[in-house]
Amino acid sequence: MEQIDRPWLKSYDPDVPPTLDYERIPLFKFLDRAAHKWPKRQAIVFRNWSITYAKLKAQTEIVAANLRAAGIRKGDRVALMLPNLPQSIIAFWGVLRAGGVGVMTNPLYMETEIIHQFNDAGVRCCITLDLLWPKLEKLRDSLPVEKYFVTTIGEGLKFPLNMLYALQAKKNGNTPRVPFDGRSVLPFKTLTKGREKFTNERVDAEDMALLQYTGGTTGVAKGCMLTHFNIGANMQQCQSMMHTLGKKKETFLGILPYFHIYGLTTCLAWPTSLGATLAPFPRYVPLDVLKGIHKLRPTVFPGAPALYISLLQQKDIDKYDLKSIEVCVSGSAPMPVEYMEQFLERSGTSITEGYGLTEASPVTHFNPLEGKSKNGSIGLPFPDTDAKIVDMEVGGDPLPPGKRGELVIRGPQVMKGYYNRPDATADVLRNGWLYTGDIATMDEEGYFYIVDRKKDLIISGGYNIYPREIDEVLHGHPKIKEAVSVGISHEARGEIVKAYVVVQDGETLSRSEVIAYCREKLANYKVPRQVEFRRDLPKTMVGKVLRRALREEEEARAEAK
Ligand code: AMP
Repeated sequence: MEQIDRPWLKSYDPDVPPTLDYERIPLFKFLDRAAHKWPKRQAIVFRNWSITYAKLKAQTEIVAANLRAAGIRKGDRVALMLPNLPQSIIAFWGVLRAGGVGVMTNPLYMETEIIHQFNDAGVRCCITLDLLWPKLEKLRDSLPVEKYFVTTIGEGLKFPLNMLYALQAKKNGNTPRVPFDGRSVLPFKTLTKGREKFTNERVDAEDMALLQYTGGTTGVAKGCMLTHFNIGANMQQCQSMMHTLGKKKETFLGILPYFHIYGLTTCLAWPTSLGATLAPFPRYVPLDVLKGIHKLRPTVFPGAPALYISLLQQKDIDKYDLKSIEVCVSGSAPMPVEYMEQFLERSGTSITEGYGLTEASPVTHFNPLEGKSKNGSIGLPFPDTDAKIVDMEVGGDPLPPGKRGELVIRGPQVMKGYYNRPDATADVLRNGWLYTGDIATMDEEGYFYIVDRKKDLIISGGYNIYPREIDEVLHGHPKIKEAVSVGISHEARGEIVKAYVVVQDGETLSRSEVIAYCREKLANYKVPRQVEFRRDLPKTMVGKVLRRALREEEEARAEAK
């Protein structure tokens, strides 16, 4: 078996003892242990509301009991379509405790996306927010959901904030009427009220905890089957790589969405195992975040490049004290080095870069803290994670340092496969290795660098956009003959979508018509920000559009400016 020659790296292989003594326990046992060790510690703080670890555990037992009473059984899919709120955290643990499988859903999803995800996963129950209800209500006949539980942003807050939220929502006309019927549409408090405690469902570490949707290498969203063990192992690996954390009480900023695996593992699950206080932010408003940091004194700030960059662009940033932050973790897209330096200057904290993907629960690489990090690199593989660079076409043996190729990894955090998609699974999981679709290099010291993407994923403002989906929408326009979308560099958002369009012979079409058409069919963050009309598109010999050629053209143009 190939081994990259690095003494500290042990293979994750049944015949090689792992570096870490992984606990094979259901995820909620980490919460139970935190509640046992630190019952009085603040587990969540949100505005003027907070809850201790002991109460959080008890609350999630009640949610689990009520979910059971509502008919949820082991293995049932429960969608959580919520922004970051205390309710999201409570519901997440409650669902797992009841033996359910969480289907984390982006609240910005459009109708077609919701229909696809809910039907593909077979969602029986959905926990959501009143503001999202109108979108779901329209789709009810197309969704397999039997029960909805609906909360509000201000639920649980104390006077006067709860009143203020209610009044504000009313003023903005943001109070959709939810037709609670006591059977299939119920208020969220029916899950949190009651005294019945739940005696845990027999959940094994190898059971599926999440069906986490991602576009993967093709544009169609597929559910990654992540087990309790996969996520638990990733939490333990995070802890081992960032072992300075957790020695005292930490506070984790929860700005990354919990519905994305990066936010879920690093801002919710792992900090819970450390007995940290979670500070969820339902919306990313830069000024609110700066105020929040000033007031809450968080110690850990997991983020993404677009997030750090937009904070740095706030003109009042120097008014706020950011010095409490000890660790900033950046992932999901390349972190520009100049912004890392600016952030260090402003906050006194350096940003440390890591890398991961949904299929790996998600983290596989991280730069060591303690001054051993290399800017521009995604760092070293996590403990018990093998990583190698292989030829993009033939795979096989590791390429020598400095050579570009596909990054492939193997470790305890790697998913079981894509749900109901054996062919797609076989494409990415080969001989126990996960083919990431990312093009990377490794240096002599074993640090990895992401160079490009084999897959054509666009990451804009922290959101993943699969260009094929946009292409399909564009192709649906009667006046469009051919179209392709690519990600082009953008200072603040990392990338933005640019569409290249060939109009049908004899037709005319304007940029604003294309954008307006996309707006009707796609979530806002996916709508192309630039449109270029062309006579034809560059293609390979077998007729595949050469996205990379378009990207390179764009880069050359930007450089020439
Ligand atoms: P997701 O499955 O949504 O977590 O997206 C995973 C993809 O994000 C990876 O396959 C990479 O293409 C990209 N990614 C994650 N972290 C980084 C990073 N530090 N630098 C560059 N790309 C990254």
